[in-house]
Amino acid sequence: MVPRVVFGRGSFNQINDILAPKRTSIYAPFIFLLDNVFKNNPWLTSRIKLSYDDRIIFVSSKEEPKTSQVDELVEDIILKSKERPSGIIGIGGGSLLDMAKAVALLITNEGDAQQYQGWDLIKNPGIYHVGIPTISGTGAEVSRTTILTGPKLKLGINSDYTPFDQVILDPELTAGVPKQQWFYTGMDCYVHCVESLNGTYLNEFSKTYGEKSFDLCKEIFLDDNLSEEEAQNKLMMASWHGGMSIAYSQVGVAHAMSYGLSFLLGVKHGIGNCLVFDHLEEFYPEGVKIFKQMKEKHGIELPTGICKDLSDDDFDTMIRVALSLEPLWENAVGKNWKQTITPEKLRGIYKKI
Ligand code: NAD
Ligand code: ZN
Repeated sequence: MVPRVVFGRGSFNQINDILAPKRTSIYAPFIFLLDNVFKNNPWLTSRIKLSYDDRIIFVSSKEEPKTSQVDELVEDIILKSKERPSGIIGIGGGSLLDMAKAVALLITNEGDAQQYQGWDLIKNPGIYHVGIPTISGTGAEVSRTTILTGPKLKLGINSDYTPFDQVILDPELTAGVPKQQWFYTGMDCYVHCVESLNGTYLNEFSKTYGEKSFDLCKEIFLDDNLSEEEAQNKLMMASWHGGMSIAYSQVGVAHAMSYGLSFLLGVKHGIGNCLVFDHLEEFYPEGVKIFKQMKEKHGIELPTGICKDLSDDDFDTMIRVALSLEPLWENAVGKNWKQTITPEKLRGIYKKI
């Protein structure tokens, strides 16, 4: 679990006070990784007080984080810092939060990021790392994974050292998120809840978080009476609880198949989940029904024909990536999932997208 968290509108103002005691020396900088959407945004950047060799590095989230990108950042940070940095602070959406977690881990674990894609391969604790979400839904602020695309797979670095040491939850930071992105990333949270609550890994601990988040999502995406501020506050907490729920259970079919889409076509996580989930009535009848209502209420039209020009090899690649995520299938369908989840079955679903 994340051991320290502050929540509240304006809580980002506490950042300098939170970091100061964690500075290990004047030669050990804090490295701020910011989504480059904030490049010309003094409302946010002016509140970060840089001292000594502290640095802000702007990172694009146009594409999802890659293992090679993590390796390059780590090399740059190590070469330019006189001492091992005091901490890494990720400010942005799931992409930047994952990047910050991965960089913090790779500073203390030798080799390339791709070596650690999988479960519990990280040997040493990372350096101090702080997550500050600016868009809500992924749960990356609370999870024990950092999802990376490597040369062979899209797969997380899942470990007990991955979660942030500190998180700052300030819903005000999400004010500028464009509507479509708000919906897609918000639906990531909704899908986390459906997959967790309908999975075989479910237990009372993850269920309590999943149910709370599920109810919040229904309120946020279907209730007309919420103010914008209430909706921002609630979605930030829905994301947290949804993330907690999957951290102690697992995701399912939409995530496994969306990883395939993302690996082959670069489709981003939020929209990828929506594209797949729209066709999963067989697995999640009630969840998909409510999803369609939410889509309609917000006038969201998903792109179609994404897979129409793909070759057999392309389908095979997506299916390989999706089937490699064994715990997700086991959670979704049970221990005997291989009896029903065949390549042909997945091909049929991909063809509808
Ligand atoms: P994102 O980080 O990719 O950002 C989406 C877009 O929103 C970007 O264009 C970004 O610039 C913009 N944006 C972010 N904050 C903004 C703001 N306040 N104002 C205006 N624009 C803003 O989106 P995401 O959906 O949060 O994250 C997706 C990533 O998260 C994927 O890489 C996925 O693999 C990862 N993910 C990780 C976990 C985990 O547990 N580690 C879980 C789910 C998803
Ligand atoms: Zn997700």
